[in-house]
Amino acid sequence: MFHQTSLRLTGLYLGIIMAISIFFSVALYNLSMHEVDRGFDRQTEVVQRVFGSGPFRQQSYIQQREDIYNDIRGHVIAQLIFINLLIMVGAGFLSYYLARRTLKPIEEAHQAQSRFTADASHELRTPITAMRTEIEVTLSDPKLKLADAKDQLQSNLEELDKLTALSEGLLRLAQLEASDLPKEAVSVHTLVQAAVDRVLPLAEPKHNLVSQSVPADAQVLGDQAGLTEALVTVLDNAVKYSPKKSQVTVVAKPGRGDVIITVTDQGPGISEEELPHIFERFYRADSSRTKGTTDGYGLGLAIAQNIVQLHGGSITAESSLGKGTTVTISLPKA
Ligand code: ATP
Ligand code: MG
Repeated sequence: MFHQTSLRLTGLYLGIIMAISIFFSVALYNLSMHEVDRGFDRQTEVVQRVFGSGPFRQQSYIQQREDIYNDIRGHVIAQLIFINLLIMVGAGFLSYYLARRTLKPIEEAHQAQSRFTADASHELRTPITAMRTEIEVTLSDPKLKLADAKDQLQSNLEELDKLTALSEGLLRLAQLEASDLPKEAVSVHTLVQAAVDRVLPLAEPKHNLVSQSVPADAQVLGDQAGLTEALVTVLDNAVKYSPKKSQVTVVAKPGRGDVIITVTDQGPGISEEELPHIFERFYRADSSRTKGTTDGYGLGLAIAQNIVQLHGGSITAESSLGKGTTVTISLPKA
C-alpha cells in the first residue's frame, strides 16, 4: 500500500516540477526569440543604412534572415527539450526520494499502530481463553461441589478485574492520543501531595514513603488530574516493585525553566537492556521478580509518558540492579 502511494506521490511531485519547468521554458523561449527578432531588426536597419535597399538585395537578405532565424529557433527548442529531459530525470529521482521521506513517518506510525493493535488483542485474548477453559472444565465435572464452583467464580472475578484494568488502560491511551489537555496553573506541592495520598494506602505499612517539595510555591502549566495520574503511576511502580520497609522518596525541586520531580526507590532495579523499553506499551521487565509476582500490563509508564509529553515535559528512568530506581519527571514551569 505504501509503495503504491509513494509512487503516486512521486508522480505528483514530478508533475509539479515539470509543469514549472515547462512554464519557464516556454517563457524563456518567447523571450529569446523576441530578443533574436530585435537583434535582426537592428541589424536590418544597419544593413539598409549602409547598403541601401535595392529589391534584389532585400529579397536575398530576407531569405537569409529567415534561414538564420529558423536555425536559431531549432537550436533553442532542441536545447530547451534537452534541458527539460535532464530536469525530468533528476526531478524523478528527487521526487521519489522526497515521497519516501514524506511517507516514512506515516508508515512508521502505521506500523506502530498495527503492532499495538496486535499486542492489545493478544493481551485481551489470553485471559479470555484461560477463563473459558477453566469454565468448561468446571462445567464438565459431573460431581462439581459448591465450594469448587465458588473457587472458580472467584478466579474468574480476578481475571475480570485484570481485563477491566487492561481495557481502562487501553481506553486511556486512546483518549490521550486524541486529547487537548486543559491548561491551568497547578501547584507542584498540591500535585505531589495528591499523588502521595493516593498511593499511601498501598504503601503503608509496607513502605516508608517520604516526600519533600522545595519550594512549596512552584507551579506547572497543565491538567491537574492528568499530572496526578502520571505521578501516581510512577509512585505505584516504586511501591509495587520494592521490598517491605524500604524507602520511597519523592522530591520536587525547581530547575531552570522547569520543575523536576524525582521518585526514588530501593527496589530490585531494572537491567540496562530493559531500561530503554520500560516506557513502551505492554513492556514488562522479563524476569520472575516482576512477572507472576505482581500483576500489571506494562501500560502504566506508557500512559505516564504520554501525559508528561502532552505537557511539553519529559520522563526518564535511571536504575542499577539491586540498588534501586529513580524516575525523573520534568515539567515546564508555569
Ligand atoms: P501497569 O502499570 O500497567 O499495571 P506495569 O507496572 O508492569 O503494569 P509499567 O508501569 O509500564 O507497567 O512498568 C513497566 C515495567 O518497568 C514494569 O513491568 C517493571 O518491570 C519495570 N519497572 C517500572 N518501574 C519500576 C521500579 N520502580 N522498579 C523496578 N522495575 C520497574
Ligand atoms: Mg506500573
